[in-house]
Amino acid sequence: MTTLGHYYALASGPVPTAGLETRRPDGRAVAYAFNTPGRLVVLGGHKAPNLFVFKAEQPDYDRSDIPSQRRFLEAHFDGVGWRVAQMLEACREDPDFYLDELARTRMTSFTRGRVALLGDAGYANTLGGFGTGLALIGAYVLAGELVAARGEHAAALASYNERMRKPTKIARSGNAGPFLAPPTHRRIKLRDWAFAHRLVARTMIRAADAFATEASIPTYSMR
Ligand SMILES: Cc1cc2nc3c(=O)[nH]c(=O)nc-3n(C[C@H](O)[C@H](O)[C@H](O)COP(=O)(O)OP(=O)(O)OC[C@H]3O[C@@H](n4cnc5c(N)ncnc54)[C@H](O)[C@@H]3O)c2cc1C
Repeated sequence: MTTLGHYYALASGPVPTAGLETRRPDGRAVAYAFNTPGRLVVLGGHKAPNLFVFKAEQPDYDRSDIPSQRRFLEAHFDGVGWRVAQMLEACREDPDFYLDELARTRMTSFTRGRVALLGDAGYANTLGGFGTGLALIGAYVLAGELVAARGEHAAALASYNERMRKPTKIARSGNAGPFLAPPTHRRIKLRDWAFAHRLVARTMIRAADAFATEASIPTYSMR
């Protein structure tokens, strides 16, 4: 496994949003992002109301020891300003606090013998928002190929392996860390500029759609 040098942490609450609009009139939740070089916090929103992404040279924590993970996070956000001290406080109180690294495992095959891996176990996802979709596609393709091969499991698994190679490419190449937490003020500005310009934002959405739309997956008859 290769570490990508970035880490992320989540906590549910309490969320220090006093004085901020947290919901649009149409009911949509509003999230606020704040960057300093190599660091991002996102406050509010519908999913992870206290979210941190940051770059770190050393994974200076123990995976089985949550207090050490909180200390690791706090060391990297010490004195950052804005509402970050309150967000860190929320992490201290939250029993669901979660911290992990962005890392990559290069999978050369999803099957061996009678065993097939699918979802996170197979595709080596990192942070990117495509893990659930890929897991569902993988389950569909595996089931479809097993039915289509009528008991010839070796043929079914070979076909599953081949078909999933392209849709899972994004999991082998993406790294959201430098995009979410750019290393310099200049790069933060550039990223924000890209988001603020409709044409660039539309191109990015189109690229994401192209990744998410996989025409090579057949329609299986599951009978
Ligand atoms: C914080 C966070 C945010 C995420 N946000 C998004 C997002 O916005 N969009 C998105 O698409 N994806 C997101 N993901 C990724 C997404 O959750 C995963 O890609 C997806 O859940 C993978 O599905 P899966 O079935 O492969 O694995 P899982 O959902 O992890 O399911 C594996 C199951 O196996 C169980 N299990 C493990 N070991 C054993 C055992 N020995 N015996 C029996 N059961 C066992 C586990 O308890 C678990 O229920 C996020 C992940 C995390 C951690």
